[in-house]
Amino acid sequence: MADIIQLLPDHVANQIAAGEVVQRPASVVKELLENAIDAEATSIQLIIKDAGKTIIQVIDNGKGMSDTDARLSFERHATSKIRSAEDLFSIHTKGFRGEALASIAAIAHVELKTKRESEELGTRIEIEGSVVKGQEVTVTPKGTSIAVKHLFFNIPARRNFLKSDNVELRHIIDEFHRVALAHPNIAFSMINNGSETFNLPDSNYRQRVVNIFGGKTNEKLVPVEEETEVLKISGFVGKPEFSRRSKNEQFFFVNDRFIKSPYLNHAINAAYEGLLKEGSYPSYFLKLTVDPKTIDINIHPTKTEIKFDDEHTLYAILRSAVKHSLGQFNVAPVLDFDRDNNLDTPYVYKDKSSSTPSIEVDHSFNPFQSDTPSSKSGGLSSKFKKESTAGWESLYVGLESKSTKTEVDFSNLEFESDPEKQELFSDDSAMSQGQTTYQFHNKYIISPIKSGMIVMDQHRAHSRVLYEGFLKQLTVKEATSQQLLFPLKLELSNSDMDILTQLKEDLEHTGFIFSSFAENSIEIKGVPVNVPESEVSIIFEQLISDVEQEVPDTNFSATDLLAKSMSKSLAIKTGQTLTKTEQEHLVNSLFACKEPSVSPFNRVTFITMRVDDFDKKFM
Ligand code: ADP
Ligand code: MG
Repeated sequence: MADIIQLLPDHVANQIAAGEVVQRPASVVKELLENAIDAEATSIQLIIKDAGKTIIQVIDNGKGMSDTDARLSFERHATSKIRSAEDLFSIHTKGFRGEALASIAAIAHVELKTKRESEELGTRIEIEGSVVKGQEVTVTPKGTSIAVKHLFFNIPARRNFLKSDNVELRHIIDEFHRVALAHPNIAFSMINNGSETFNLPDSNYRQRVVNIFGGKTNEKLVPVEEETEVLKISGFVGKPEFSRRSKNEQFFFVNDRFIKSPYLNHAINAAYEGLLKEGSYPSYFLKLTVDPKTIDINIHPTKTEIKFDDEHTLYAILRSAVKHSLGQFNVAPVLDFDRDNNLDTPYVYKDKSSSTPSIEVDHSFNPFQSDTPSSKSGGLSSKFKKESTAGWESLYVGLESKSTKTEVDFSNLEFESDPEKQELFSDDSAMSQGQTTYQFHNKYIISPIKSGMIVMDQHRAHSRVLYEGFLKQLTVKEATSQQLLFPLKLELSNSDMDILTQLKEDLEHTGFIFSSFAENSIEIKGVPVNVPESEVSIIFEQLISDVEQEVPDTNFSATDLLAKSMSKSLAIKTGQTLTKTEQEHLVNSLFACKEPSVSPFNRVTFITMRVDDFDKKFM
């Protein structure tokens, strides 16, 4: 019998390797940006069309390649970065496997132009699916430009597997952020579909963070600096009161390489213990420098994990450095003890407030409001006072405006719903005496029913009521707006703007009116009737972070997400005292809902306790 083992042809091997290296357009972006950095560029431009599906181009002013190197760079295992296996233990470059360009060229149309400083003319090479289509001498500036077109053109299955442009673009932007944060001393720009999304001049680290995440970031950064024998830490953490509802602003860099480390993330969380509101996450932008010999970078090209020789020590140093910074900058006392204290402030902390003698509350600090003339509230406390009234108003207004409509809008829904519900409140003697509800712990509302009583979670119940209201507004597009006396201006980062631009139309259907939708800010002149002005910036922040979390995963529904996000922001909070009228409104409105039993996030809104249950306990 003939031998059956064959060597795979190079282009097949490259395609297989490409499957590992190139998962999506963002992987190409990462590889090309890293190559430019390794080539010592001081200025790097990224050009994207159609979320990288049509073109991904990186232009750098680095050292360029000779014509032989240019041709060789597309060969597998062709690298200028290591010469022997020993070099693997002291890597100072991003790449070293010599696989990226070969892989990319196997599954796309690639055009390379490159020139070294010392040479008059450069080289241009064109490759399609590993096949060299041409190589010629060309006029081109010093540095390298690589354009990757029609990614996955020869692997339709992979191409079809790509997510929507929004999702792919987010991944690209994430990679861009990571690389740009790791190298503040390099200028970066990004052009997406012909318009410049980022222009980051070479700067210090703080400016880089601010340039990426928006001007308002500056005031929330607390520096962290620590140097020990094994580890140097530098960078910033976010003040606790600016903690976000998403994990998007969490960055570790080890020796200028972005990494993910749940373990070190835990160390940061430990440093913030007692300082964060439930469901919020600290921002951090931390650069760790360690001896390359003490780490094991997982040499899988796309992985961002890393192993440290002495994790426990790093954990301890990191935690104490962050804790120290938070303490030193006196940020802990800025915590708002007024707001949602039952829910948000951990008990340990709540009772400790008097034991910190040197409290310096920043009275001008106002976490969510932009400082436009329209912001009426003054200091922190007045803001939250206003806000809590606003919360009440919102409950009242929301319910009131609906209660007039309720009979009309939801009558048939009620009819459809469980007939038992109709009877829930029917013959209760307590009801006729005006004693239908009771609030306890500023969290639950009890209401007697025929067979016993229900205990309702006020926040979840109100979320459900608002959610169905918003969904309806979004579907029938009939929202009413209230004009603001002064337009409200919100400053936003580019990526936040991208998100809001996609949601603009839906937002308008809920009742928002925008007077301008400019590059880095929006101006709002009208808001939905049931949205208090003081809540607007909170709603937008929540919305942006919800989208950021949602988008990478699914073909999410913008409408549903918007309704969920707004109801979450606006629902009365745990910790708010409600009047009898408000309690009753809430109970009635909940049972006028289509799905009263769960919150928009599928959590139980109320439980029923039957008289029998009590009877049993008294046996
Ligand atoms: P690696 O980065 O692991 O060495 P790549 O396939 O990414 O492998 O690149 C192969 C080689 O091509 C690099 O080692 C480098 O010598 C050269 N190269 C790639 N991109 C550039 C660039 N932008 N400027 C100069 N040289 C480059
Ligand atoms: Mg590389």
